[in-house]
Amino acid sequence: MLIEERFINYTKIDTTADARSKTCPSTPNQLIFADMLIYELKQIGVKDARKDGNGFVYGTVESNVDYKTDVIGLLAHMDTSDATSGKDIKARIIRDYDGKDILLSEGIYSTVSDYPFLKDLKGKDIIVTDGTTLLGADDKAGIAIIMDFIQYLYQNPEVKHGKIMVCFTPDEEIGTGILKIDLNEFVCDYAYTLDGGAVNNVTFENFNAASATLTFNGNSIHPGDAKNKMINATQLAIDFHNMLPVNQRPEFTEKREGFNHLLGIVGDCQQAKSSYIIRNHDLDLLHQQMHHFELITMHINEMFNRHVVELQLKETYHNMKECLTDKMFIVEQAKTAIEQLGYTVEYEPIRGGTDGAHLSFMGVATPNLGTGGRNFHGNHELAIIDEMKEMVKVLANIINIVVERGVKE
Ligand SMILES: [Zn+2]
Repeated sequence: MLIEERFINYTKIDTTADARSKTCPSTPNQLIFADMLIYELKQIGVKDARKDGNGFVYGTVESNVDYKTDVIGLLAHMDTSDATSGKDIKARIIRDYDGKDILLSEGIYSTVSDYPFLKDLKGKDIIVTDGTTLLGADDKAGIAIIMDFIQYLYQNPEVKHGKIMVCFTPDEEIGTGILKIDLNEFVCDYAYTLDGGAVNNVTFENFNAASATLTFNGNSIHPGDAKNKMINATQLAIDFHNMLPVNQRPEFTEKREGFNHLLGIVGDCQQAKSSYIIRNHDLDLLHQQMHHFELITMHINEMFNRHVVELQLKETYHNMKECLTDKMFIVEQAKTAIEQLGYTVEYEPIRGGTDGAHLSFMGVATPNLGTGGRNFHGNHELAIIDEMKEMVKVLANIINIVVERGVKE
């Protein structure tokens, strides 16, 4: 089966994750998709393909050399973002794309002025939507690449490789899935997630993350009698927000600049609540940002001489970089594998978290590789078939590097 056919089949199942769900996976279609993937793995030759009670799919490609090599894990996630619809996706292949504005459907275009990278895709085969749903290249392109790579290994038994563990995971988009992975089923020395963009992107840095939840206790009184008595809780929430540095709002930051993002304010005169996510690649800087929340809280409470503001701070995840400092060969061999195809590698720090970050802190160092997808989480999402095929070659190169480094026991 062609990689694009495989991928388009995957997009037909709506696997939108649901953050409100109490189950894992968060939506039942992820289980149906898991069964479909298990069937495909078995067809290819992965005899032990199976899923666990939380919907994780596991499978083993046994080594075909008689010496010891690193055991590598490969992961991609089955769910898609709920940022836009993932239902009734109408994936369409554009062969030999002309590099111009793309008419997705009546009145809906992906334009070169909105997405300048499009002009660089001239001559490539790409897959788009009809502009009313996401595509799901994030991360079904990753699954298609892994599946195609495994098929390549089974069809070419002369290709030497060590043991490879495969895992397709639920609920990456809501950040909770990976915590339920069974590391007795997924035993490897290190792993790679295929959940990024361009072929030349390798990621081993993500944000350190914290959250702040604030409660403002006001004093409500008829506005006509309010002088020197009313404390408007919602006004306090606004004042608090305005004391945070403006240049640390997400809309003014990029690359390695951290931010404090206001998720929302709800309230009335008597009580208000606001919540933030706090992000920085540098842990010391993250702690400074968190400390800033504490200082503002103290300041406002001193001003009123009572506890009008209550602050709850929580660190939620960390930058995986610290897990990789003494294992940089994992990143280096991916870099070499990509360079062997003629690319110049860019280390792109992710401005978010990844399953790989969680896994790294669970003991399996896991940098992230590209999938050939672009414009994730939106109706203009697309997949580049040529890049998906290139990623299959990247995996083949990595496996080759690993097998050549293997040692006779
Ligand atoms: Zn993803």
